[in-house]
Amino acid sequence: MPQRDISLVIPVYNEQDSIKPLIAELGEVLNGLDKSYEIIFVDDGSRDRSFALLKEAAAHDPRIRAIRFRKNAGQTAAFDAGFRTAQGDIVVTMDADLQNDPRDIPRLLEKIERFDVVCGWRHKRRDPWIKIVSSQIANAVRNTLSQEEIADTGCSLKAFRRESLHDMKLFNGMHRFLPTLAKMEGFTVTQVKVNHRPRRFGRTKYNIRNRMVRAFADLLAVRWMKKRHLTYEIKETIR
Ligand code: UDP
Ligand code: MG
Repeated sequence: MPQRDISLVIPVYNEQDSIKPLIAELGEVLNGLDKSYEIIFVDDGSRDRSFALLKEAAAHDPRIRAIRFRKNAGQTAAFDAGFRTAQGDIVVTMDADLQNDPRDIPRLLEKIERFDVVCGWRHKRRDPWIKIVSSQIANAVRNTLSQEEIADTGCSLKAFRRESLHDMKLFNGMHRFLPTLAKMEGFTVTQVKVNHRPRRFGRTKYNIRNRMVRAFADLLAVRWMKKRHLTYEIKETIR
C-alpha cells in the first residue's frame, strides 16, 4: 500500500443504510482536495448488510479499504485497528452514521497544519435532549477531573498527525480520551466547531447507563495515567 496524504478511519456497527450515502458525500469532498486518500472502514462485528456493502464499494474503488472484526469489540478497538493500518500522514476519524459532516474535513485539514491533533466540537448538537444534557455533564466532569479543556471529546470527527497516534496504547473506552493521551506525549491539540446532523438511519449504540458509568471509570484511569506519567529530562549521558 503506497503512502497517502490522508487516511479516513470510520468504525461501522450495523450502519447498512448510511454506507452508500456516506461514501458519496466523502467522495464529493475528498475528490475536490487534490490530495491522495484512503478510506478505511472498520466493521465492528455488524450483523446487518454493512460489510457486504463495504465489500461491494471496495470492489469499485481501490481507495476504499475494509476490515471486519469477528465480533463486536467496541469503537476504540475499531479505531485502533484502523490506526495500525493507516498509511496517511494525516488520519481523520469520523462516525459512519452521517451525523458528522464530511464537508468539515477541509477545515480540520487546514488547522492540522499548525497542530498535531484537531478535535471537532458539535456546538449545535442534533441528538435527543437527554443525550445532549448527559454529554454536557460528562464533558464538564471529565474536564475538571482530568484538567482538560476539550469541549466535546465524544465527537468522532477529529484529525491527527499520524505520529501522534504511534505510541498510543489504547484500552476499551479510550477513544473519548485520544486528545488527552496525545497531549501527555507532548503533542499539541486544538478544536474547531463542526456541523452535526440528526441520525437518519439505524440506532445509537450508546445509552446513558452504558456511557456514563463506564466513561467515569475510564476517566479515573486517565486521571491516574496523567498523574503517574513519566516526565524526566536527561541532563547528560556518558557513552
Ligand atoms: N460503533 C462501533 N462499535 C460500537 C459502537 C459504535 O463501531 O460498539 C460506531 C457506530 O457504528 C458509529 C460510531 O461508532 O459509526 C458512533 O456510534 P453512535 O452513532 O451509536 O454513537 P452516538 O453518535 O449516538 O454517540
Ligand atoms: Mg451517532
